[in-house]
Amino acid sequence: MTFWEKIYLPEILKGLAVTNYHFFRNLVLHTAHLFGLKKSVNATSTTQYPEERKRYPDNFRGSHRLTLREDASVRCTACYLCATACPAQCIYIEAGESPDPQIEKYPLRYEIDTLRCIYCGLCVEACPCDAIRMDTYVHPRIWGFDRLDFVETKEQLMHRSRVLAEKGRDGNMNEMLEWYQQQNAEVFNPQRPELRTYTNRDVPKHYAEPAETDELPAIDRHHERTAK
Ligand code: SF4
Ligand code: SF4
Repeated sequence: MTFWEKIYLPEILKGLAVTNYHFFRNLVLHTAHLFGLKKSVNATSTTQYPEERKRYPDNFRGSHRLTLREDASVRCTACYLCATACPAQCIYIEAGESPDPQIEKYPLRYEIDTLRCIYCGLCVEACPCDAIRMDTYVHPRIWGFDRLDFVETKEQLMHRSRVLAEKGRDGNMNEMLEWYQQQNAEVFNPQRPELRTYTNRDVPKHYAEPAETDELPAIDRHHERTAK
């Protein structure tokens, strides 16, 4: 190391010069753009998330949904191919006899543990019925207070298909952001009795618990059973 490198001072000054150059360049350009000047010169901009959102590309691989038939029943025939193909073993299915005589089975339960899911899309590839898709344009949820908050149930997965059909490609994302805002308001509400109430699974409808009330998510019980 040379003497100047050892004292760091020139490098610090160089770094400050770069930072200041970009700061003043953007300040001048953004101000000029406000007055309709220098529009052809791009200034660096930051997306003001969540007020501003970048549009996900059409091939974005987002959260899952279970597709529906015309009569609004689930299209899945509980063939287990998606669960077999899943490298993260995060899909749990319980099959039942379908009420439709033309169809042999349907899923009584269909759960995806999104904490395990690696969003590889192999379940979508494996499905012979186009019953599961990842075209919801909504990224995985990042906020929850226990593991159950991240286990998506058949109802939730079907609900996304209904929202997509009724409200279009931003519908699911808007719904998730509304949920975040509600939860955020709850967290910072000084009247909020206790956090425990907040994790009550009855409260947020969109993330409601499935009918059965075992303590472990179904996928964990499945792993426990298969481990024996
Ligand atoms: S995206 Fe991949 S990891 Fe996630 S459920 Fe489908 S197959 Fe499993
Ligand atoms: S989602 Fe498709 S692959 Fe998975 S169980 Fe249902 S029909 Fe079979």
